[in-house]
Amino acid sequence: MNNFCSACGSPLSADARFCPGCGTAVHFVAPSAGQATRQLFRPLYDRRIAGVCAAMSRAWGWDIGLLRVLTVICGIFLFPLTEIVYLACWIGIPEELPAPPLM
Ligand SMILES: [Zn+2]
Repeated sequence: MNNFCSACGSPLSADARFCPGCGTAVHFVAPSAGQATRQLFRPLYDRRIAGVCAAMSRAWGWDIGLLRVLTVICGIFLFPLTEIVYLACWIGIPEELPAPPLM
């Protein structure tokens, strides 16, 4: 989740207000404090095949039922493109870690 300066391309930290490279004011909308960055994780439960649909629906707030239907439809009509993308997501999206036991 790197931001880059629009003027010189230097990488910026998430809370940067000015570019360390050229001093340009940074004009991206910083997430407000306490708002966690939504990341893709394949949940351990609520999955059908590999949890790819569940990960996307959780991260982006999409309807999981609709997403699964679309995935199946695309899987039929765009074969094998959807299957390749799905496999890439399966490999690329990290699996959610089980919650640590409460002490
Ligand atoms: Zn810059």
